[in-house]
Parts: sequence; structure tokens; C-alpha cells
Amino acid sequence: MINMIFLGPPGAGKGTQSANIIRDFNIVQISTGDILRAAVKEGTEFGLMAKKYMDEGKLVPDDVIIGIVKDRLQADDCKNGFILDGFPRTIPQAIALDSMLKDSLNTEITHIISLEVPDEDILERLTGRRTCENCKKGFHIKFAPSAKGDVCDECGGKLIQRDDDKEETIKKRLNVYHEQTSMLKDYYKNSGKLSIIDGTGEPDEIYTKIKGILS
Ligand code: AMP
Repeated sequence: MINMIFLGPPGAGKGTQSANIIRDFNIVQISTGDILRAAVKEGTEFGLMAKKYMDEGKLVPDDVIIGIVKDRLQADDCKNGFILDGFPRTIPQAIALDSMLKDSLNTEITHIISLEVPDEDILERLTGRRTCENCKKGFHIKFAPSAKGDVCDECGGKLIQRDDDKEETIKKRLNVYHEQTSMLKDYYKNSGKLSIIDGTGEPDEIYTKIKGILS
């Protein structure tokens, strides 16, 4: 059973590596960022509220995000295992996660993997990041360009840049990471479940290390 937390700054490769893990281990990915972006796209009142925080590179309030994750973890498809990508991001979220797993779901976290990437690399990675609007395939204008230029080489969909992948907002998101999220490594350091991985270098090599930890 794998119930995993993925830690690391925005742009560390958590989404990319989660795609490998869910394929090989048949578990689900719960990305709080993806859930929020879906709500923004739907234009619900909740989505509009979340967008204000996201566009400024700030965190959505803890109680809101904790409620979302609690609901999501109760779904049947989480019973085979899950990856939490982008949650927890604060100590109160980590405490709430501990209690929801123990009290309501009768399960526990089995692995915590932190992908480490320096800020300079993050800036270059995120400013060049693009996603297919249609099939969600990820690209990078320098490191992983589409073979078809500015459309997706798989489905022909339009490649779009996330609103919060603009340089100003990335810098704010990195500050938030250093001030509120990076200390989660200390929170988990005595759990015996934390692995720290160098997230620079080839995605395939990084995945080999992750697979070794999970197997
Ligand atoms: P991400 O896709 O994980 O980089 O998340 C994009 C944005 O969604 C973040 O910059 C936050 O504004 C918001 N967000 C995602 N996950 C959380 C979380 N666990 N707590 C608070 N805000 C979050």
C-alpha cells in the first residue's frame, strides 16, 4: 500500500513524477492545485475566491483546502493508495491530515518524498512551462518543446501557460514555499518515512530513484 506525500517547491517535478507513479503503482494523484484550477475554470463562487489567492501566489486558507482534501480522500478510488501532490503546504494542514487519516479513514502515510531543486532552476523551469489545454500533456519551451511548435504534438490542442507561472508570481510562490512549506521536512523528519531526492537532472533518472523507494 502506498499513501504518499510529495513535498518540494513549485516546479520541482511533482506533477511529472506523479504521472509515472500512478501509471506503475495503480494509485490516484490528488493535486490540490489541479482541483483549485478546475474550480476556477468552472467559474464557481468558490473558484473565484480561490483565484484571488492563486493569482497573487498566496496560499488558499487552510480550512478551505483541508475540507477539500478530506472530501477527496473519502472517495472509493483512494482505497488502493494515493499521492498527495501540493498538500500539506503548512504545519496546520499537516496536523489536520494526520488526524483525518487516523480518525476518519483508519489509514496512514507510508512514504514522504521531498524533491529538492534550487530557486534559480525553478524560475527557468516555470517560466517555460506549458500545458496542453485539451489533454493536459506537459511541455517546456526549452527542455521539452512540442514537436509541432505551439500546439500539442499528441492531440493538436493549444498550449497554454498557467496564470501563476509569470515571473513575478513565481517569486512570490517561492517565498511562500520557503516561509511556510519547507519546514514540513522538519515536521516529518523523525517519522522514518521521509526521503530527500535531488530533483535536478534527467526526469527518468529521478523516477528510477523514486521507484526504488516505493518498491
Ligand atoms: P500548485 O499547482 O500545487 O503549484 O498550486 C497552485 C496554487 O494553488 C498555489 O500557489 C496556491 O495558491 C493554491 N494551493 C494549492 N495547494 C494548496 C494548499 N495545500 N494550500 C493552500 N493553497 C494551495
